[in-house]
Amino acid sequence: VRRKLVVGNWKMNGSLAQLAELAPIAAATRAASGVDVAICPPFTLIAPAVARSGGIPIGGQDCHHESAGAHTGNVSAGMLKEVGARLVVVGHSERRAEQGESDEIVRRKAEAALALGLQTIVCIGESETERAEGRALDCCSAQLGASIPELSGEAELVIAYEPIWAIGTGRVASCDDVREVHALIRRLLVERFGDAGRRVRILYGGSVRGDNAAELFAVDDVDGALVGGASLTAEGLVPIIEAA
Ligand code: 13P
Repeated sequence: VRRKLVVGNWKMNGSLAQLAELAPIAAATRAASGVDVAICPPFTLIAPAVARSGGIPIGGQDCHHESAGAHTGNVSAGMLKEVGARLVVVGHSERRAEQGESDEIVRRKAEAALALGLQTIVCIGESETERAEGRALDCCSAQLGASIPELSGEAELVIAYEPIWAIGTGRVASCDDVREVHALIRRLLVERFGDAGRRVRILYGGSVRGDNAAELFAVDDVDGALVGGASLTAEGLVPIIEAA
């Protein structure tokens, strides 16, 4: 049975002062016991967050696919690891849109991160137009096929399904829609990886809050959540941890 995983993605938010939220988040995680929790702050806050994490894993929101070199403004998986990151998110829709990241680049980032032993969360999800045109499932299966690497080594691959229209909008996907997409992802993972595909955790992301988390977590194949806005404070995230 897969343990629930709740990951906070702070995006381009937070400050040194905001790291004070980590202690009560860590305390709630210890109290809940059956759930894994991790926080991904901006790069500049990773090292100080590790120092104040209370034991919860800290991660990055992206990494470059190469280990070093002339890539101004980028950070490698090894650099994340050196300062204590234990996970990384790759292929978030905001990076796919703002930085033009392709499925192939996302897959190479995931390969680089997994090779160094980082737990790697690969994000997929359809746009509003793709859903309106009845292409949500096709879109997710194409992205999944092209964005995830082969499973190798000990590092954990995690998938996050984040429908773009649900991110930061307060419009959480319905449980039926989530069930349908997560079932598709599970089927594709098992087709590709066999039994190992059953161990891959699949997170839902998009307007997860304390008041909708429990019903989402009850959906088959929802193994946790990737949380944006509500993860910025303990007040927002703790009820989600408690619902897991
Ligand atoms: P919100 O929880 O703010 O909708 O963001 C979801 C998300 O994009 C997490 O990666």
